[in-house]
Amino acid sequence: MQLSRFVFSLVVVGALLGDCAKPVSSQSRLAETALPDRMTTSGTQTPAVAQLAQSRPREIFAPRNIAGRTLAVASTSDIILRPGEVVLTFDDGPRAGKTPAILDTLDDYGVKATFLMLGSAAQANPNLTQKVALRGHTVGSHTYDHVNLSTLSRQAAIAEIVRGEEAVAAALAGSGKSLSPFFRFPYLSQTGFLRTNLLHSGAVVLDVDIDSKDYYRDTPAVVAQRTIARLEARGSGIVLFHDIHQRTVDMLPAFLDQLAQKGYSVVRLVPRDQSIFGRDLITAGLAAEEAAL
Ligand SMILES: [Zn+2]
Repeated sequence: MQLSRFVFSLVVVGALLGDCAKPVSSQSRLAETALPDRMTTSGTQTPAVAQLAQSRPREIFAPRNIAGRTLAVASTSDIILRPGEVVLTFDDGPRAGKTPAILDTLDDYGVKATFLMLGSAAQANPNLTQKVALRGHTVGSHTYDHVNLSTLSRQAAIAEIVRGEEAVAAALAGSGKSLSPFFRFPYLSQTGFLRTNLLHSGAVVLDVDIDSKDYYRDTPAVVAQRTIARLEARGSGIVLFHDIHQRTVDMLPAFLDQLAQKGYSVVRLVPRDQSIFGRDLITAGLAAEEAAL
């Protein structure tokens, strides 16, 4: 049964889609230039006030609840956002010293995010993995070791995805929380074959509408401004951050404050089925079967 589905996918996907799908975010470098510096527009501010503001950041960012809808998702096509709605996603963690601070900031604004964790990071930080889930956030996976899956053979790519899922699920074991079916391709580098197999297996591939590019060596303020500008141009969307960078920790209060000021709400994604083990999962066994073909 499983083998026949896999063979069907292999034939159909190979025939119809081919291997290549461009990363979703590759088209947008448009808004990179000429952004107004909204953080420093206070031309009338006296030096004394400026100094005070700098020394008391919590006075500038007065957190308020910007939680929006909770969206129960069974497939990628269920994620339809209305104008003014934002989904926050954090990839590559969890990481000690970074993820906990991000959790605190998200709490300040009453919002829930989706964390696409690496199996290797979850395995190294099981307590932190559980903490993310227990604080009410959705935990998905992002492969085991952040490999560019488009460079691997099909069976190796599937094995890498499965290893990641299993490691994150193992880190969550005992917490009462489950791994969700949300998955994101490392480097947003996907193939039609893998995407279709994931979708057919019940995984929810999370695409990216707005890439914060928080891995660039920019200041936190620049990252916040760039991301807000892209969001403003689009009106809504799934935002990609990484909970492994200090600049992401530093920029998040300013970013969420901007969302609050501009009237955005943060949509929480939850799986319609609670566990990946409730779905028809691609398994390592299938990869082995393919190898035998
Ligand atoms: Zn990543």
